[in-house]
Amino acid sequence: MPENKTGAIEKGICSSCGLCSIQEWPMHESIQSCVFKNGWLGKREKKMFGRERKADNPEEMRFGIALERFTAQLEKPLPDAQWSGIVTNIALKAFESGMVEGVVTLHRNADNHFFSQPVLATTSEEIYASRGNKPVLSPVLTSLQTAYRKKLRKVLVIGAACHIHTLRDFQERFPYLHDMDIYTVGIPCVDNVQRSRFHWILERMSRSPRTACHMEFMQDFRIHIRHSDGTIEKVPFFSLPEELSNPDIFPESCMSCFDYLNSLSDITVGYLAAKLLPDQNRQWVIVRTEKGKKLLNLVDDELERHPEHGDWECKKFVQQNTERIIASMKDSKDSYSPDRKIPLRLGQVMSWLLNATGPKGIGFAHYSVDFHLIRHYYYVKYRCPEQLTVLVPQHVRSILQEYDLPL
Ligand SMILES: Cc1cc2nc3c(=O)[nH]c(=O)nc-3n(C[C@H](O)[C@H](O)[C@H](O)COP(=O)(O)OP(=O)(O)OC[C@H]3O[C@@H](n4cnc5c(N)ncnc54)[C@H](O)[C@@H]3O)c2cc1C
Ligand code: SF4
Ligand code: SF4
Repeated sequence: MPENKTGAIEKGICSSCGLCSIQEWPMHESIQSCVFKNGWLGKREKKMFGRERKADNPEEMRFGIALERFTAQLEKPLPDAQWSGIVTNIALKAFESGMVEGVVTLHRNADNHFFSQPVLATTSEEIYASRGNKPVLSPVLTSLQTAYRKKLRKVLVIGAACHIHTLRDFQERFPYLHDMDIYTVGIPCVDNVQRSRFHWILERMSRSPRTACHMEFMQDFRIHIRHSDGTIEKVPFFSLPEELSNPDIFPESCMSCFDYLNSLSDITVGYLAAKLLPDQNRQWVIVRTEKGKKLLNLVDDELERHPEHGDWECKKFVQQNTERIIASMKDSKDSYSPDRKIPLRLGQVMSWLLNATGPKGIGFAHYSVDFHLIRHYYYVKYRCPEQLTVLVPQHVRSILQEYDLPL
């Protein structure tokens, strides 16, 4: 394990998943399970499903191995959840039915609405209080320490892909969690940020950062920011200031991330391929394992289900952006302008047009996955080339070849 001059272990790329903060076992063991040391998917996917994703199945290559996929919303959405609250409802039902004794997740930080506080939730109230996104790097896995000390036998972990990868490896590699029956709910995750950067970014996105209380990058090519008075500000991606396109403002971990859709979770609950409709909060559910099916069964009769929709094809749409993305990953500019790339009004027209004519449903999810994996491949290639073989799973190279992009 690399050490610095003081003898402290150097973490290298790190998404602050929380495992290394645990004191119940040595940090050098935690770090051996780090996804940034072991790479994304590959052998881990094979261990879990008995095989890696199939290179001749375009949907599986992007969305991961699944037993079932559909879109849905809770008939009675949970107030203040991120979408309709399917994740929190699964957690509540898993706890109340006795399937698990505690939930490893996040609360909001008492001093900052958007920041997180890791928690082992062991009452319905504590689980309910975990709903909603905290859009910053978050040490979810820290609370495994509390679960271990309390000798819990059955635990649900809610996390992003870096949490779930590292957890799966750790549980298998070391004895500490062998006796813990762990269920996992995964959220899709991309473009996450460091706490120290969050407000700097929000101030550049929103006309009123102080009153912002909910935000999401939506399928209509706009960021929807809800304010405390209930109004929703919609900022087109194209009209963000140029300085927000500087790759250096994002954590190295999230720019080196190759599992947007959390393919090692038992069940992934996002929104990416769901229809965006006014007054609805449709979500996208990907059931991956038998345990995922059990989790789904807990809430299935409360779901209003819909089949996936949309045309798969989005190649031309992705290709419009590839040259620009590759160039921006290769060369860091000396300065990025604080001005909007495109005036707001024009940006609104462009997002309206793209929303009307661009990919939708599974086509939008296809586009978004490909866009990010292309961006991340070239980020790693140009900025930390020594990590390329370790971090990048094979299917990413196959997808780049579909676009005739150089490896
Ligand atoms: C940074 C970020 C980017 C995302 N990007 C996408 C995307 O591009 N496409 C997509 O489909 N979905 C994305 N999601 C997930 C999506 O926003 C919702 O969390 C998901 O659809 C669940 O909605 P819900 O109403 O069921 O969640 P809720 O019932 O409100 O529950 C949300 C759960 O997620 C946990 N959580 C919140 N923040 C974090 C965090 N930082 N790390 C780990 N766990 C967290 C909460 O503690 C809670 O347990 C993203 C989430 C985050 C945090
Ligand atoms: S990502 Fe997690 S396991 Fe990896 S170095 Fe950071 S805290 Fe440790
Ligand atoms: S983008 Fe990837 S590395 Fe960053 S927090 Fe999300 S899952 Fe972890």
